Amino acid sequence: MDFSLDAKYLDIQAQARKLAASIAHIAAEADECSTVHPEILAALRASELSRLMVPAAFGGAFEQVDPLAICVVREALMATSSHLDSLFALQGIGSFAISKAGSADQRATWLPRVASGEVLAGLALTEPEAGSDLKSVTTEVVETPQGLRLSGLKSYISNAGAAGFYEVFAREDSGYSMLLVPADAAGVTVTPTAELIAPHVLGDVQFDNVLLPHSARLGARGEGLALVLATLAVFRVSVAGASVGLAQAALEEATRHARTRVQFGRPLARLGPVAQLLADSWTEIEMARLLTYRAAQMAQTDPGATIEHSSMAKLAASETAGRVVDRCVQVMGRFGLVRNSKIERLYRQARPMRIYEGASEVLRLGIARELTKVVV
Ligand SMILES: Cc1cc2nc3c(=O)[nH]c(=O)nc-3n(C[C@H](O)[C@H](O)[C@H](O)COP(=O)(O)OP(=O)(O)OC[C@H]3O[C@@H](n4cnc5c(N)ncnc54)[C@H](O)[C@@H]3O)c2cc1C
Repeated sequence: MDFSLDAKYLDIQAQARKLAASIAHIAAEADECSTVHPEILAALRASELSRLMVPAAFGGAFEQVDPLAICVVREALMATSSHLDSLFALQGIGSFAISKAGSADQRATWLPRVASGEVLAGLALTEPEAGSDLKSVTTEVVETPQGLRLSGLKSYISNAGAAGFYEVFAREDSGYSMLLVPADAAGVTVTPTAELIAPHVLGDVQFDNVLLPHSARLGARGEGLALVLATLAVFRVSVAGASVGLAQAALEEATRHARTRVQFGRPLARLGPVAQLLADSWTEIEMARLLTYRAAQMAQTDPGATIEHSSMAKLAASETAGRVVDRCVQVMGRFGLVRNSKIERLYRQARPMRIYEGASEVLRLGIARELTKVVV
């Protein structure tokens, strides 16, 4: 049993760290943006890391999308910039259903442009009245002789207004389908969502009687829910990777501070209670990282069968990030409260991770359900 990353992943990690270092000087500014930061996007494109998000046959880096590679990259990017991490992650989250179930034409049209970063992707699931309870969506697609008619409102959609297309989850008959909708289709309009504590490229997307060709479904009619689950199976664990990166960055900030700031005649790091905060944080990050890499590795072969392990990793790592960054602010005292300092940004950025792609409470339900199945 080997707990270290092999050469393939170390190489990807080095590429991701290089990209992160190249934009570090503009990270603070970019992370406060609610629209795509052009220099960050240009750097992501130049790095070619988006090639990790599609299969090799369509310009991707590997034969299949590799969850561990994505985790390793998100860990490195999130430590420097949430904006960069999110632009990278969305290329996969918003295009995976095309990789998995798109027609030859849909794949050939969109995936090479996602891989190069020329086109940004978006996944539209959430609605004003449908968050964790996805099955309560009211966006609907109806088949007519002219084509598919799509109507409904999606809210809190990442990359809204910047994406070239959206994968849209909609009710169809008594089930759900997934549609591929070009952002410039007639009847698609975007309005900005309320600004969050940690800004994000986010908007509401209205589909007003949008007419799509019959070929716009991704996969078969009624396959929408299965495609959402397949996407989550691969990408939920990547939120764990980003959470580990965030926690590690916070701990490094706090450690540097605690090593040099002297109170009561000693560096803070040598005061027992502060040492405990730092030691617990490091230990928990190591646990979260191991769980994340293992879950990502399990997801390589059959992501659907191991989704609860991805959920465990996301639960553990995002909750760890929340605890760690809170302790780190404590260690830094008043210096941890300075608006737009690195630690203050991380403090705000950690919070949504426990909510999107499965709130912690919802993840626990699934994990417990699986537990009752596997225990004999
Ligand atoms: C930064 C950001 C980016 C996002 N990007 C996208 C995107 O690109 N595409 C997209 O479709 N959506 C996106 N979302 C929306 C996100 O998916 C939802 O916020 C998430 O699914 C939770 O839904 P909700 O916020 O409506 O919370 P609700 O479903 O209203 O839940 C609120 C709280 O209730 C609790 N809860 C809910 N259900 C249960 C349950 N069954 N058991 C126990 N407790 C429960 C949890 O504590 C939960 O946090 C984004 C959100 C954010 C913050």
